[in-house]
Amino acid sequence: MKLFISADIEGISGVTNDAQASQTGPQFAEARRWMTGDVNAAIEGAIEAGVTQVLVKDAHGWALNLLPDGIDERATLLQGWGVEDGMMEGLTEAYGLAFLVGYHPRAGTPDGVLSHTWSGALRRLVVNGIEMGEMGLSALFAGALGVPIALVTTCEAGSRQARELLPWVETASVKRGITRFAAELIPIKRAQDVIRDAARRAVERRGEMEPLQLQAPFVVRTTWSSPGMAQTCAAHEGLALVDEYTVEFSETDQLAALRRLRQVFRIAQTN
Ligand SMILES: [Zn+2]
Repeated sequence: MKLFISADIEGISGVTNDAQASQTGPQFAEARRWMTGDVNAAIEGAIEAGVTQVLVKDAHGWALNLLPDGIDERATLLQGWGVEDGMMEGLTEAYGLAFLVGYHPRAGTPDGVLSHTWSGALRRLVVNGIEMGEMGLSALFAGALGVPIALVTTCEAGSRQARELLPWVETASVKRGITRFAAELIPIKRAQDVIRDAARRAVERRGEMEPLQLQAPFVVRTTWSSPGMAQTCAAHEGLALVDEYTVEFSETDQLAALRRLRQVFRIAQTN
């Protein structure tokens, strides 16, 4: 069975601050090593439970975080950004399961370590009435291809949000957020044991995992940090202003809704 792993950095063991998560941060060298370790722990657990092939998508910042000379030799690594599929680039229907490693809670989560959704510009995202962040978007992308998310590794608040959205999912909490920039950490070696065990269980329980598929139409509501962003979006066809900060659009296809959201995000940034 083929496994796809999408890896972000904010939910990685040991990471609490942009000094670690940003490519130009003074502790980035350590953080990318920890990120490589967390991903390797997930790969090990998955392979122990019967996965035969693993593709890892580096999905943070410049998408050049994971160490090609440190990643488990049984996996392949997709670095850099593609055109449309963002954090899930490379996933196809041929995969049996997907893991989200090092993910973080959505924007507006006070106890979520480094919580945000794409950037500070997007303050709130609601799809068919369900609040979502990057976890939700990656789960919707995988779901559109019929692939379930089986494991999320993140902070405690992130695990809570993952289980709300995906009640079947295995979670590995590697830290407990106090604020967005403070956390009680599980020492990295032990955190990676937790990830390895959760990955093994996730693959063993694959029969219980479900692809996240919502009912059409897909109504996507975005709330921006400035009214100008919402106004700029609303000037485009198919985008309606809900209030001064919020715009909404609707699509009949789950994947099309995600790709449209990416375009809307680009439009908002032009303001
Ligand atoms: Zn990130």
